[in-house]
Amino acid sequence: MAASVYDCLVIGAGPAGTAAATLLAQAGRRVLIVDKAPFPRFHIGESLIPAANRVLRKMGVWDEVERAGFVRKEGAEFTFGTGEKRVHNRFEDGWVPGLDYTYQVERSQFDRLLLARAREAGCEVLQPAEARTLTQTDTGWQVELDVDGSPRTVEASWLLDAAGRGRWLGRQLSVPTEPLPLHKRFTVYGHFTGVARAEGPEGGNVILTRIPKGWFWMIPLDEERTSVGLVAQHEGERATPERIFDRRVATNPYMRACMAEAKLEDRFRVESDYSFVHQHFAGDRWLMLGDAAGFIDPVFSSGVYLALESADLAATAILKAGNSLGRHARNRYERQVWARMKVMLEMVQMYYDDRSFAVFMHPTDSFRLFSAVNAVVGGNTQMSFGLRWRYLLFLLVCRLNRHLPMVPPVKL
Ligand SMILES: Cc1cc2nc3c(=O)[nH]c(=O)nc-3n(C[C@H](O)[C@H](O)[C@H](O)COP(=O)(O)OP(=O)(O)OC[C@H]3O[C@@H](n4cnc5c(N)ncnc54)[C@H](O)[C@@H]3O)c2cc1C
Repeated sequence: MAASVYDCLVIGAGPAGTAAATLLAQAGRRVLIVDKAPFPRFHIGESLIPAANRVLRKMGVWDEVERAGFVRKEGAEFTFGTGEKRVHNRFEDGWVPGLDYTYQVERSQFDRLLLARAREAGCEVLQPAEARTLTQTDTGWQVELDVDGSPRTVEASWLLDAAGRGRWLGRQLSVPTEPLPLHKRFTVYGHFTGVARAEGPEGGNVILTRIPKGWFWMIPLDEERTSVGLVAQHEGERATPERIFDRRVATNPYMRACMAEAKLEDRFRVESDYSFVHQHFAGDRWLMLGDAAGFIDPVFSSGVYLALESADLAATAILKAGNSLGRHARNRYERQVWARMKVMLEMVQMYYDDRSFAVFMHPTDSFRLFSAVNAVVGGNTQMSFGLRWRYLLFLLVCRLNRHLPMVPPVKL
């Protein structure tokens, strides 16, 4: 049977894949999306940040997101495990106006909504269809798929890997990864009912509670249910992940209080060693987007934002290119994606360093620093001059505080 021929083949129907596919189809390209999972399917990554709204608008799906009934997220709260200190970043107080809120999303529903938008924009979708192997041809790619148990070949001029952290294309093309300056960590999480929550708009906030060598997230998913996860360092602790979760809750007064009435809805899930970044994200006719390019850490909820941003950049690069991406275009794409990831990496390093985190937890509005840091928490990685120098000043103060303590230490 002759292979079907497309302009673009997108592997993966997560936010990166559906965003890139939609933007390309909107520009008249013939696009096929394949995903190995039938939808709806569970996925972690439930808390959006306001900067992600831009690409959702560009895709023409924002109104649908607004109408879907997701929990409105107007801010992020950071606490110590002792419960002694709380910093509340209300997005409307951030340096960049117009980014006041976003949503906490159940990914099974959110991803399905984005995929429906991609279909509406003209994309074809094959599901469940797993990309297996690939061959480079003179005009692009031939990819062997397993479509619900049957083999099938598709041809496309451009290949976009949006298949997430499995590094599908990275492995196929043997693209090396870069070591990141972060510890190896694991996470145990589940959906709970009965988790304590504030009344009113603050009840929609994400809450991040720092404990020794780790942290908890609490993300409200609807009136009843809350996603709760523990992130911890590998320390050779001999216990099941569930026991480790329960022990950490029990030894942290703030979490203990929040979880006093909590009941696990389904089961715990575990992920580990998720941080990596590829040395290259693009070649002459291929691009990696979202987690397929690299994943830093979940703490600042930047994964979906970075997925959407890289999708937009990838679509723009393809639409500007002729038959292939030249060296400058590849470099530009990699630079732009990395610039966004790097800000998030700096914030993550700040968060895990006790002395730096102490500065974050004692905000000052001298020079409007709190408002600037608040905007970065909202995902503003593309900074105006006024935001950038304030952000750099904040990082400098964090660094100075390591050697010359200026604020009280964290109490975890
Ligand atoms: C513990 C944890 C907590 C997180 N919390 C947050 C958060 O609160 N907020 C946030 O924004 N981000 C969070 N993230 C990150 C977020 O999950 C990801 O960054 C985001 O889902 C990336 O989107 P993506 O489209 O790149 O990939 P994905 O969403 O992973 O989508 C990839 C798709 O590719 C498909 N696929 C894989 N292999 C193949 C194949 N060979 N053939 C066909 N299809 C394939 C998969 O089925 C999947 O549907 C978290 C991550 C972790 C690990």
